[in-house]
Amino acid sequence: MPDHVATEFREHEAEVRPDEPFTVTRSEDGRWYTVKGYCPTCRVDTVFRVSYGVLGPPKRLWGRGRRAPEPLTGDIPVYCQCGYPHAERPPESPDTGCGAFWDVPVPPPEPGAAP
Ligand SMILES: [Zn+2]
Ligand SMILES: [Zn+2]
Repeated sequence: MPDHVATEFREHEAEVRPDEPFTVTRSEDGRWYTVKGYCPTCRVDTVFRVSYGVLGPPKRLWGRGRRAPEPLTGDIPVYCQCGYPHAERPPESPDTGCGAFWDVPVPPPEPGAAP
């Protein structure tokens, strides 16, 4: 049972705790990034998947040699999707979390990793 903190819903930029860094995993084909960690605000385990490169070059280019897109650099914007109820969340809000959002820096590709 995760230790969820039922904060009031509020859209806010959250501060990632340095002692609880997020992990960023690149999919084998380089088109998905999975960000995992604890929401800095409501403390629940979050898993966030972002597509990358899907809207890139036209599909026919992808077929050739299945070249993965260039590794993503910079930050991935993530928002809380804990799925728990938070008071004051507007019913029409598409958010399923506490309203926290934050940036997760993408680690440089591992040296020697398979292309
Ligand atoms: Zn929550
Ligand atoms: Zn949260």
